[in-house]
Amino acid sequence: MARLAIVGAGLSGLAAAWSLRSHPIDITLFEKSRGYSGRAATRGKYGARYDHGANFVTPSSDRVRSLLFDQLPTDSLAQIEGEVWSFDASGRIEKPSAANGSTESWTYERGISTLGKLLGRRTSAQTLMETRVAQLGRSNGRWRVTDTEAGSHGPFDAVLLTPPAPQTATLLKDTAAALSEARLTDQVASLADVVDDVRYHAQFTYVFGFDRTIERAGPYHGLLNTDGGHDIAWIGFEHDKPARAPDGENIIVIQMSPDWTRSRVDADPDSFLPAAKEHASDVLGVSLKRPTWYDTQRWRYSMPAEGANVEALADGADAGLFFAGDYVAGVGRIGPAIETGLDAAARIGDHLL
Ligand SMILES: Cc1cc2nc3c(=O)[nH]c(=O)nc-3n(C[C@H](O)[C@H](O)[C@H](O)COP(=O)(O)OP(=O)(O)OC[C@H]3O[C@@H](n4cnc5c(N)ncnc54)[C@H](O)[C@@H]3O)c2cc1C
Repeated sequence: MARLAIVGAGLSGLAAAWSLRSHPIDITLFEKSRGYSGRAATRGKYGARYDHGANFVTPSSDRVRSLLFDQLPTDSLAQIEGEVWSFDASGRIEKPSAANGSTESWTYERGISTLGKLLGRRTSAQTLMETRVAQLGRSNGRWRVTDTEAGSHGPFDAVLLTPPAPQTATLLKDTAAALSEARLTDQVASLADVVDDVRYHAQFTYVFGFDRTIERAGPYHGLLNTDGGHDIAWIGFEHDKPARAPDGENIIVIQMSPDWTRSRVDADPDSFLPAAKEHASDVLGVSLKRPTWYDTQRWRYSMPAEGANVEALADGADAGLFFAGDYVAGVGRIGPAIETGLDAAARIGDHLL
């Protein structure tokens, strides 16, 4: 049976594994963290549950809609009540015009990471969690996967790489440096250059729990800075999602802008807690002082700043190398990332079967 390695159990890698589940392909999924779903991430702490990465999923195409509503269980799928409103560089809040509409926002009762878990449990792949892939090697015309603990896996007939572009570029450069066949070395080095051209934004996330109601000026569950001029990109009322906080508790999620985060990304996110709270208080027009708990997250690679040259990436297929992820779609969104996984699965099926 043909063998496929998928690097990354985020939604693009999982969508690919799920799509190939009934094909005669033996799949191994490598994931550096402890769980499924990547940046569509949920934490359970302080008696609450909150999404500290992607806030919600929007059915961005018929394929994604069909996956969410027809192919995966829907018992814990829930639409977030309320709307997404916007704010500008000066912090002025605005209701979206009828023409722009409001974003259809879906989540799961146990958090957005349920989407990854639902996909992961429905694949036939063997999943190796807490296994960070360091590089690929070549032996007898097939790929081997080496992890950072020097474990060697394979051989594989094809490899699908799904980490964010900067991490995929490093993996490809280290692979090219260790290969001995000149033609393949050049091919992998030029794929590394293509991926390396894609820049990613960094973002800090701050989450605050309150034992009181945080008032708001309208029926919104989230506020999005649409002109990119504010230090904050997103403020979410996380307790509007089902089953997130005990009654009477409020959870506010603040995602700082890429511009604000850029110069601070190597610092401890905790050192900017007061600034994050103050900026959000200004936008909301209420005090966010005295939370009962807080949490932070550094997203070094939160979203792609641009898309990759997908035609150049397609050249990797001759060598059995495939790519998926939000940077392949050119936008940091769950739906398009899933689509790249489905597309890659179709190409891999054609290549292997
Ligand atoms: C703060 C924030 C807010 C967001 N808000 C939204 C939103 O509201 N709506 C929306 O649709 N999208 C949102 N997004 C974007 C969305 O989360 C991503 O576009 C999508 O989840 C990307 O999926 P992916 O599979 O491409 O990548 P990832 O989810 O990053 O998956 C890649 C996986 O590869 C693993 N990995 C990396 N390197 C290795 C290695 N060497 N070996 C093994 N495993 C490795 C990673 O651990 C990860 O699990 C947001 C993202 C962030 C960070």
